[in-house]
Amino acid sequence: MKVNMLIESQEVATTDYDGIQNPGKLNQLVGYVAKGTANHVDLAVKAAHRAFLKWREISLEERISLLLTSTEKIEEKMEEIATITAEENGMLLNRTKDEIHLGLADVRLLADLANSAFEVDYHEDDTGWVRVEKKPMGVVGCIVPWNAPLILTMQKITPIILAGNTVVVKPSPTASMGVTLLLKTMATVFPAGVINVVLGDGEVGSALTSHPHVRKISFTGGGPTATMIMKSASETLKGIHFELGGNDPAIVLEDADLHEVAPKIVEAAFRRSGQFCFAIKRVYVPRAMYEQFYELVCNLTDNYQIGYQLDEKTTMGPVNNEQQYRKITELIESLESSGANLVKLGKKLEPENWENGYYIQPVVVRDIAPDAEVVTCEQFGPVLPLVPYETEAEVIQMANATEFGLGSSVWSSNSKHAAEVASKIEAGMTFINGHGQTPLGSKYMPFGGIKQSGIGREKTIRVFDEFIEYHGINCHG
Ligand code: NAD
Repeated sequence: MKVNMLIESQEVATTDYDGIQNPGKLNQLVGYVAKGTANHVDLAVKAAHRAFLKWREISLEERISLLLTSTEKIEEKMEEIATITAEENGMLLNRTKDEIHLGLADVRLLADLANSAFEVDYHEDDTGWVRVEKKPMGVVGCIVPWNAPLILTMQKITPIILAGNTVVVKPSPTASMGVTLLLKTMATVFPAGVINVVLGDGEVGSALTSHPHVRKISFTGGGPTATMIMKSASETLKGIHFELGGNDPAIVLEDADLHEVAPKIVEAAFRRSGQFCFAIKRVYVPRAMYEQFYELVCNLTDNYQIGYQLDEKTTMGPVNNEQQYRKITELIESLESSGANLVKLGKKLEPENWENGYYIQPVVVRDIAPDAEVVTCEQFGPVLPLVPYETEAEVIQMANATEFGLGSSVWSSNSKHAAEVASKIEAGMTFINGHGQTPLGSKYMPFGGIKQSGIGREKTIRVFDEFIEYHGINCHG
């Protein structure tokens, strides 16, 4: 299978293609992806700019209607998009399907909110009147990572397009086949040039972040890349919108029912092999409950069946790419060589194929210092440190001792008390007795982080503000 770029509704082939390795079967290629250049970015941005001049004139009603039609097209292609994404990404097939379902729900929710988001603000008195219109910005460059590629792409482009902007999307090289198919499916219902896709890595990304016709960059990925983007975007004074990494703490309070909370904490730490931005990356447990919690966590973690992502028995797939694999295995090796107290758990489904994929057993680390690297870094893999604490003041201080500030959670049988602890945590999001948004949370809780975990928010009615310009018109008398 060969995947080409999409510029102004045309498939754009190149002379060079990258072979895409299956992270669960390293001796197999999933397909070939076109290698884009800065020239392709220029063509795509110019096409998006031409399309913008017409798209901004289309009514909001029509934009909403086209977006909703595109969700039906995605549903028709669900099986194909989910399967390719699982093959190239390493994510379990039921997860990639979940991503599409959740992404579609987000798209529909945003379509529902759009009318109130774009209401014109009008006021008058005896000195005159003022009207504040909400206008689109132009071309927005969207850069997405590999770890939750489908939902992040849908979530990202929806408010941008609804606001009357057009997009050039650059997926990650290790998850571009599924995203490109998703975007091409959506693009069929929109006028040519509203949705464009360029393919490649940093070189193509930086051509997008420095292009003078791009008004804003919406980026989801790691902090070091965000720093480069900020520098590059500064040359043409573009707006930026960043969703970055995290180091989410889970704080178990003294009155928590451990049998109830342990399975949820384990799931939120090891889902997708720990490769999601708001995965639980460190757990704080009262010292008096530590042994019991440790036993429960180990027993639950040992149930994971690690194997090929499309095998129905598998509950933990491989990690996404070689760099990820090295980073996580080096972290585990350095813990082992420093004498840390850790256990490798789970069952290898096909031990004979273990070396033929980026497979890693989930690891639980105990009795580790609060400032150890494994506690303070974004592991982005199946490694979970459990840290004991004595007092609530101490645990709040430990939870906040980081430059990250994405998600966090508090676990307790007293939600009022948990909420008091929650509001002392420095994070964009804190969950109580869960780690992720409920349907109500999805509707009303902006998604994103503070400190070095992000700039701006996604989801809810607030996200529209990221992609509009205010135009005030004030009449005297
Ligand atoms: P990454 O920063 O390595 O890459 C992200 C994207 O940036 C890719 O498409 C990549 O090709 C592109 N890129 C690389 N160099 C670039 C450059 N110089 N200019 C422009 N673009 C460039 O991140 P990753 O490894 O793909 O993703 C993992 C990271 O993403 C983790 O830190 C994770 O926490 C974060 N993330 C955050 C959220 C969130 O919502 N906060 C969600 C998912 C992932």
